[in-house]
Order: sequence, then C-alpha cells, then structure tokens
Amino acid sequence: MKASLDKKPARPLTATDLCDRCPAAAVVETVMLQGGSLLWCAHHFAFFQDALNAFGATILVDERCR
Ligand SMILES: [Zn+2]
Repeated sequence: MKASLDKKPARPLTATDLCDRCPAAAVVETVMLQGGSLLWCAHHFAFFQDALNAFGATILVDERCR
C-alpha cells in the first residue's frame, strides 16, 4: 500500500509543458517517490513506463486519451 501523496491539485498540462526527453508536448506527468516530477510525451512514457513502475513513480496527470 502506497502512502498517499500530498493532495496537490493536478494541473492540466498545456502546450508549454514539453516532454523531458524530447521536444514533443507532454501528455503524462509522473511524480517520483523522492519527489520531483517528470513530463512525458506518449512515446517516451510508453518507453519508460516499466522503469517508472519499478521506481515506484506515480502518475499525476494522464492526458493520453484526450
Ligand atoms: Zn518524448
């Protein structure tokens, strides 16, 4: 059971939120257990999803289905 995160209101991602791995617009934001968030485009999120799960990252925003 994961400890719940502090309830920060999830903000919608905008066109100025870019993937941390490439210049594409971010559609997913993840938060690491240690703190600090990362932004992902759909491609890079899919690529790193298993690693993020292994690190216990939590999905804060997921706008892939919009
Ligand atoms: Zn990317």
